[in-house]
Amino acid sequence: MCLKSNGGLKMNSPLIIPFFIPHAGCPFTCVFCNQWEISGEKDEVKAEDIDKSVEEYLKRARIWPGRQIEIAYFGGTFTAIPVDKQIALLEAAAEQKKKGRIKGIRLSTRPDCINEEILERLLAYGVTTVELGAQSLVDEVLEKTHRGHSVEDIVKATRLLRKYPFQVGYQLMLGLPGDTNASARLTGERAVELAPDIIRIYPTLVLKGTTLARWYAQGKYAPWTLERAVEMAAYWLGLFSLHHIPVIRMGLNPTENISPERDLLAGPYHSAFGELVENSLMLKQIVSAFEKEDFKKDSKITILCNSRSCSKVIGQKRCNFEYIKEKYGFSKISIEFTNKLGKDDLVVCNTFESITVKREDFLEKYRI
Ligand code: SF4
Repeated sequence: MCLKSNGGLKMNSPLIIPFFIPHAGCPFTCVFCNQWEISGEKDEVKAEDIDKSVEEYLKRARIWPGRQIEIAYFGGTFTAIPVDKQIALLEAAAEQKKKGRIKGIRLSTRPDCINEEILERLLAYGVTTVELGAQSLVDEVLEKTHRGHSVEDIVKATRLLRKYPFQVGYQLMLGLPGDTNASARLTGERAVELAPDIIRIYPTLVLKGTTLARWYAQGKYAPWTLERAVEMAAYWLGLFSLHHIPVIRMGLNPTENISPERDLLAGPYHSAFGELVENSLMLKQIVSAFEKEDFKKDSKITILCNSRSCSKVIGQKRCNFEYIKEKYGFSKISIEFTNKLGKDDLVVCNTFESITVKREDFLEKYRI
């Protein structure tokens, strides 16, 4: 496993100005949750502070022409906080839209905390994206995690949201209590059937002060290893990419949401989790070219890729190349760039032949 981030920013990534509503309004106690710790913000977010906060945030942010800017109310269960507070926060966000500072408003909530009246209100204030904390699409995992809602609630919430022009997001977790490779795969497959517009993937971490921390100390819960979490997230990423569902985040953001030193007790945390996942998926794609037995007779190979995929092909600290050399016995691997290839498409060559491995074909054929 390689451990380094290039910190790259995609040109189409929106600028999200996050306001954390820690645990506010949430009557549940999911075993993994310590929203006060996750948000890192013990003080209540006040509607009257939004204007100044947005102004300050924009001064520090990297903005380029056409970059989508949004306000996000994350952390708790927005639609379960007192209605007057919801309205005050929504008005404050709508005001930023009027000022032309932002284009979108997004918020997160639970699948069992929306109804038509609530969604009408969100729409009236210009909310553009509703992210559901789905976490798992397997009832047994939801029960063991003390989520307090079922898969059916997620299905109903998704159907209801589809009656409105919101972008629908899912937040999914892997490695929850009771989660297995099979149930995580099932969650991925069911998510595809429900077809949200965007997905965030989070590995389950053991945070201090949570029920999970107690279970961990008592030996009742074992977190997934980083390798296992990366492997399953790569499966999800491949599956969702195949069905054209963008994965907009993988792993917690260490700068905004979590301080590993302060909050983390155990679990598959990595500051560049998303990159590890992307690299892992690309490694599988490269290796798929070696299925042809003859191909491995040559000791040197060259990989052609789009320059945008370079870091994924090589892997952090060259981990993909080192793995391939060790596992398949190649003495030399070279990389060359051609922007004639689509992003994430590859051509793997030895002295005698070239094998094209397009990302979409690879995902379709191998189903990871
Ligand atoms: S529903 Fe959300 S805010 Fe409430 S306990 Fe669970 S994870 Fe935390």
